[in-house]
Amino acid sequence: MTSNNDTLFARAQRSTPGGVNSPVRAFRSVGGTPRFITRAEGPYFWDADGKRYIDYIGSWGPAIVGHAHPEVIRAVQEAAARGLSFGAPTEGEIEMAEAICRLVPSVEQVRLVSSGTEAAMSALRLARGATRRDKVIKFEGCYHGHADSMLVKAGSGLLTFGNPTSAGVPEDFAKHTLVLDYNDPQQLEDVFAKMGDSIACVIVEPVAGNMNLLRATPEFLQAMRRLCSQHGALLIFDEVMSGFRVALGGAQSLYGITPDLTVLGKVIGGGLPVAAFGGRADIMKHLAPLGPVYQAGTLSGNPVAVAAGMTTLALIQEPGFYDRLAAQTRKLADGLTQQAKEAGVAFCADSVGGMFGLYFAAEVPQDYAQMMACDKARFNAFFHAMLDAGVYLAPSAFEAGFVSARHDDAVIAETIRAAAGAFGKVAG
Ligand code: PMP
Repeated sequence: MTSNNDTLFARAQRSTPGGVNSPVRAFRSVGGTPRFITRAEGPYFWDADGKRYIDYIGSWGPAIVGHAHPEVIRAVQEAAARGLSFGAPTEGEIEMAEAICRLVPSVEQVRLVSSGTEAAMSALRLARGATRRDKVIKFEGCYHGHADSMLVKAGSGLLTFGNPTSAGVPEDFAKHTLVLDYNDPQQLEDVFAKMGDSIACVIVEPVAGNMNLLRATPEFLQAMRRLCSQHGALLIFDEVMSGFRVALGGAQSLYGITPDLTVLGKVIGGGLPVAAFGGRADIMKHLAPLGPVYQAGTLSGNPVAVAAGMTTLALIQEPGFYDRLAAQTRKLADGLTQQAKEAGVAFCADSVGGMFGLYFAAEVPQDYAQMMACDKARFNAFFHAMLDAGVYLAPSAFEAGFVSARHDDAVIAETIRAAAGAFGKVAG
């Protein structure tokens, strides 16, 4: 029987490349037909066939208070009724900037933009402009949006600069990006020793969420902070995913490390397009209109998006919010691990705050190579068994998952029951 999802997917592919507006939605990695979502509420969403799913992608992070939270919806409706966009400053933007500066202490000044890609790209330009250096360091497996200098993978030798991972990125751009191994402080040390005075910045996901969930070791981040300071390079934490997700103050508050610049997105928009980059005021002053680093945006600080973001930021500051979120996420990780054990499947799970990783491996991976060694075929089978049972996980073995404040005990228990069946199917 053809489902409405199949019909919509066939139709979508006629007018949109691959039928989707962002590649991972297409289920390429797991196979099958993507679900077309019609509505969402709390921990659930519903597809075009009316099937309900427990949602563990939460719009890839933003839906931390649950979908369609009544207070967020009300704020958006009220803001929309006052006008959608002005192209002139508003008090709401000041309030949002003040809130971010208060909640993320390393951020003294901040600029609002509309996507994580835009925020990361702008932070890199700022770092290059402020240091008057061109080279940037990133780490294999981290994602910082799709700006040209970030779509780069490691070259063949340690000191070979990167190669493009996308057609359309000139090698001349990629050669300014050096791609190193995550959680390898010695390699970072070696590279700084050889060329520290030409490096503008190091950009890192301090808790990585784009190669599944991978925790940075404290030594790795500490080495990064020390080497950047010693060599006059800037340290950029890309907390688009980890910000307001692993803790109220982001990963930097968990590790006690102060980056020079921070990139934010996802949660700060509460489901509408808000992202931001900010940091030391003496660096931020290099931005136009004060300084020579250009950056701008028609919809930057959009009043409706800011209303959604500010209401979300208010809700996550309620006492105990992160303790509850982390406890629920941990319950999920532990419950899944227990079911896998009973089914005899080599599997483990980890969580940091409201973010989790599922690994078809005997132990939690500590680096990119270990992550890539996880059993992808088994993940794909598990993903589909869970989907059939009404649980929507990220459609790739190498993405993190997200829990919202609305994933209560009953929702977690239902997920674990579904997993008992799914692990049974993938065992053996
Ligand atoms: N940085 C990180 C760490 C991200 O996880 C993402 C998106 N998943 C981005 C940047 C890019 O954000 P956007 O998709 O809003 O452009």
